[in-house]
Amino acid sequence: MINKQEILKVQNLHVNINNKEIITGLNLVINKGEIHAIMGKNGSGKSTLAKVISGHPSYEITKGNIFFKNEDITHEQPENRAHRGIFLAFQYPIEVPGVSNLDFLRLAYNCKQKKLNKKEIDPLSFFELINKELTKIHMDSLFLNRDLNEGFSGGEKKKNEILQMSLLKSELSILDEIDSGLDVDALKNISDNIKKFADKDNAILLITHYEKVINYINPDYVHIMDKGNIVYTGNKKTALNIDKYGYEYFTIKK
Ligand code: ADP
Ligand code: MG
Repeated sequence: MINKQEILKVQNLHVNINNKEIITGLNLVINKGEIHAIMGKNGSGKSTLAKVISGHPSYEITKGNIFFKNEDITHEQPENRAHRGIFLAFQYPIEVPGVSNLDFLRLAYNCKQKKLNKKEIDPLSFFELINKELTKIHMDSLFLNRDLNEGFSGGEKKKNEILQMSLLKSELSILDEIDSGLDVDALKNISDNIKKFADKDNAILLITHYEKVINYINPDYVHIMDKGNIVYTGNKKTALNIDKYGYEYFTIKK
């Protein structure tokens, strides 16, 4: 058996917001090549976990640690985490009028290149590169000229997050309800793109409410979160049972 390579280890994590404990001693290990899904009722702490892993400054870690590739990043700045290889696709991507999508993407790409001591890319070569990524995910290049997320439909915003994920090729991509508010075709498209992106060298943490998406992507693990902790870990059958019996079935069973 080949040794598993740890990408993320969350150890006994406790997180407060305004003195209220939101994450309550959570443990999670994600290895290279794995896809983990997190499901759970609204307010169970899924987005909080996603933001804390990526270093959102509003949350206070009161206890526990977060390791990325065996290095302790519990108190690392969010931009350093991004450069190390953590990507977060937001549940609610923000609109940034005045910043073109193309400029934003190139800046993000070059920032990472610079941090990794790699050559920054000129606008023309970047245009070629980003168009390749667009083609892969079947996205119209007209979106490059528009301002970041401004006036994008819900599905288009989510697709733009997928574009960033494909472009940055982070080792850990956290997708927070990337599939919410999408119609069936868009759901299939996003799931396809996630499946295409996932490989043996990266890892994905997928937060979703959809059994359909779980069934299609077939993650290695499906975790259920309740009251700030993982209360059950199963596989895609778990998602099917949630669909049938609701979350209560798992949260009481514990
Ligand atoms: P989920 O993503 O699972 O729906 P969240 O992580 O968004 O849940 O929220 C978990 C809990 O933390 C909720 O009770 C929510 O109201 C609370 N919470 C999240 N962010 C804040 C905040 N900035 N201030 C106060 N409470 C918050
Ligand atoms: Mg959420």
